[in-house]
Amino acid sequence: MDFCKSTEWLGAWVATAAIFIAACTRDTEPPKETPADFVARASELLNKSARSAELAGFDFRADGSPQHADALALAQLEQGQRQAELWRQAGLYSAASTSPVVERQIRLLRMPPTMAAPFDKKLAAELASVQKELDQYYTNAQECTGRPSTCRKKMDLYDILKDPGRSPRDRLTAWREWHDYGVGIRDRYRQSVELLNRGARDYGFEDAGAVLRAQYDMTPAAFAEEYERLWEQVRPLYESLHCHVRTKLVDRFGPDVSPGEPIPAYLVGDMWGQYWESFFGLMGVPQGDNAVDVTQALENKDLKPEQVVQTAEGFFHSLGFEHLPAQFWKASVLEKNPEKNTDCHASAWPIDPANNDVRLVICMRLKDEDFRTVHHELGHIYYYLAYANQPFLFQDGANPGFHEAIGDTLALSITPDYLQTIGLAANDKLSGSRDLAQLMKVALNTLPSIAMAATVDHWRWKVFSGEIPPERYNRGWWEMVRKYQGLAPPESRGEADFDAGMFFHIIKARPYEQYLIAALLKFDFYRALCKAAGHTGELHRCSFYGSKAAGDRLRAALTAGRSRPWPDTLRELSGSDRIDGAALVEYFAPVAAWLKKQNEGRQCGWDNTTH
Ligand SMILES: [Zn+2]
Repeated sequence: MDFCKSTEWLGAWVATAAIFIAACTRDTEPPKETPADFVARASELLNKSARSAELAGFDFRADGSPQHADALALAQLEQGQRQAELWRQAGLYSAASTSPVVERQIRLLRMPPTMAAPFDKKLAAELASVQKELDQYYTNAQECTGRPSTCRKKMDLYDILKDPGRSPRDRLTAWREWHDYGVGIRDRYRQSVELLNRGARDYGFEDAGAVLRAQYDMTPAAFAEEYERLWEQVRPLYESLHCHVRTKLVDRFGPDVSPGEPIPAYLVGDMWGQYWESFFGLMGVPQGDNAVDVTQALENKDLKPEQVVQTAEGFFHSLGFEHLPAQFWKASVLEKNPEKNTDCHASAWPIDPANNDVRLVICMRLKDEDFRTVHHELGHIYYYLAYANQPFLFQDGANPGFHEAIGDTLALSITPDYLQTIGLAANDKLSGSRDLAQLMKVALNTLPSIAMAATVDHWRWKVFSGEIPPERYNRGWWEMVRKYQGLAPPESRGEADFDAGMFFHIIKARPYEQYLIAALLKFDFYRALCKAAGHTGELHRCSFYGSKAAGDRLRAALTAGRSRPWPDTLRELSGSDRIDGAALVEYFAPVAAWLKKQNEGRQCGWDNTTH
């Protein structure tokens, strides 16, 4: 899902890879502390800056005032400088001269932060100032897209794009209003790219994209290959879904959509062609195959935001996890306060997990989407709490994708049976015919979001490497959108536009690689936990709710944090040290079979060349 873990900005840097230690530059002066003393001191310093940065980040999300923006920029700047200084000092230590636990921490200290600032203080301050401006730009746009007399809120525009009932004209106007706003930051974005590349080079990397790809216990090149392998496992299913959806859109929107061509981006899914679930009604899933309507169920129960969170908490508790700490309920923001400029992009915050201070920011609406988002965010929260007693440098996900996958793994267990168990769905007899509808809804969100992730990552890697230079930002963006998503711009868009600019993770300089990885990992985790829970039969019917055996396996993985390479943790959880897209394919088997039948005789796919 497109929601985030608070620490993406500062957390992804604690990755490890034996390969990088070999490339350490060494200062000539011998170290004054033992490796163990150095690691202890570094951890204390980093923990201190992390706590301030998390709190500043939370305050800014809860209320995006200029004061909070300043405080956050300052905290991040200080943190970046501290990391750079400790990175240099860690270069004095030989990896082989100490215990494995200390050695691993030194390796982690030698990893660069993602989106690292340059070592030069003036340039680092410049980056902080540019990034602050970009953050503020986005925050302001959320409330009003720029023309004071006619402006609309981001959520209103997003809602229009999610509604297949709106006319093509309304959709296009809303699409344009949000995307056109990107023009105002094109130059600032270019500056940020230059400064981030400078930072990456200071740490010995080719460019900032290589640093993003270096966070996974493998070289940037090996990660890019792994990424392609995983995308190729999903691509046939995405193209099959695309083919069926395109046919149905011809019925809905007429000649604006052409068989054999990419779908105009403003006509499907949402603002970014990322989640298509709201188009479910057009899909022609046979009558009688009604999925359980979670939104309706939540409305019928008239649940309060706290109760929605308690439901998700109940799932974790059923697996043997503790209840959420008191401070969570006291300090979290669960509803939008009209007096405050809350950033409604849901987020989970490890303010001080060792002392039970973890928090959630969400502007809860009683919708299926938010119900799943709460599970996603609690996945982050329970991960923070599970590894809180590890040494500071191990307090992170096994890899960044793990962190994103945990809550979603539980969300896959929100089956009709589970909803009946917790009293959210009517206790009528379920028929197998419901499976297709339920699965199609999940597919309509999952598969396009994976294709969208491939667009974002490939575009940004090419922007950082210079393969897509500033004068081709927009053309390069649409090449990637076309290639991976099979979508096209709604009209002639040129280099006066900056259509990638208003995507949250791009303007905010957040890593995105973890989402594609997580989208596949969660099915891997789910299959493994279902097996642990003793599930037999079709995978998608499994809910491991209430299974202590599944809970024990999950807790062991979460507690390990980043104390060892992630393939070791994955092996313990799933039995294999490689991520396997086959679990996703197995889950969607009924959808794949149905789509195959629907698509018989249709011209699927699209020409990948840009016109
Ligand atoms: Zn997340």
